[in-house]
Amino acid sequence: MDINHFCSRCGSAVLKSADHCDHCSAKFTDKLRCAACDYIGTEEDYTLDRCPKCGCSRLIALELKAP
Ligand SMILES: [Zn+2]
Ligand SMILES: [Zn+2]
Repeated sequence: MDINHFCSRCGSAVLKSADHCDHCSAKFTDKLRCAACDYIGTEEDYTLDRCPKCGCSRLIALELKAP
């Protein structure tokens, strides 16, 4: 399984490829936030699913806010 992102709204573990949360139905943007240092970047910035700044692998999938 490749669960390694966490929902920014409810904190549930979500699939890396998920575009929404199965638990709270939050929709995700293509941005991720590092849980350790708050670095925000796109999927490509997180090489090998690790934060380029601190190396933490706990990444938060940011919720898409309704306009
Ligand atoms: Zn959620
Ligand atoms: Zn970090």
